[in-house]
Amino acid sequence: MTAPSTQRARCLALALALGATASLRAMADEPPLPPPRPPEFGAPAKAPEAPPPPAPAAPKEDTASTCLGKLIADGAGAEAATAPPASAEGCGIDTPIRLSSIMADGGAVSLPDRPLVACEFAAVLADYVRLVVAPLGQATLHAKVTAIETGPGYDCRTQDRIAGAKISAHAKGLAVDFMAITLADKRRILVERQTGADEASYFRAIRTAACGWFTTVLGPGADAFHANNMHLDIEQHGSSASYRICQ
Ligand SMILES: [Zn+2]
Repeated sequence: MTAPSTQRARCLALALALGATASLRAMADEPPLPPPRPPEFGAPAKAPEAPPPPAPAAPKEDTASTCLGKLIADGAGAEAATAPPASAEGCGIDTPIRLSSIMADGGAVSLPDRPLVACEFAAVLADYVRLVVAPLGQATLHAKVTAIETGPGYDCRTQDRIAGAKISAHAKGLAVDFMAITLADKRRILVERQTGADEASYFRAIRTAACGWFTTVLGPGADAFHANNMHLDIEQHGSSASYRICQ
């Protein structure tokens, strides 16, 4: 918070110093040119001040390309994206990407909603789908998982859209909401309710396992906002990185 204003103050000081030097030079070189010139000399002095900001951005892009590079190397359909401008304080995504598919069991699991998420979150989600959702689907329902409806991911809003509540993990690109899972045999398993005991136990299993990957797991029964979706996020609760909310 203090950095930009400090930097602005430094820029101003430097601009004034350069302006003063320029004025002195102007006075020495061209004696008969009074008032109009100093401002003109002062303005260009600001130009060399613009470059510094891009410098700190470089390592961030490095991290993004590394995270994104790993996802793509693992077979995910993912691309760098631009987060929409934050419409409220606290909204914004670190290294935003669009995730369109995850490779699991030698096949692509499509994410038709192409959620906009932080790359860090996409990496956790991809592991969860590859190591839990897809293999458990194959084992208990004997069909490949082909698609997962996740919702849009990023959404600049408060928790459960309640005015004045804490900013949501969605507002940082650290969450998705599973709505349904589609299998290769066209079965569509809704989070809201499953058909038959096998589908119900499959959903129960992936929901329980999700707590090993995410810090917050909220599904049907947790509260009215999650009656038809399973919210998954990786936001840290308090100071403990191991604290979990699994309901
Ligand atoms: Zn959610």
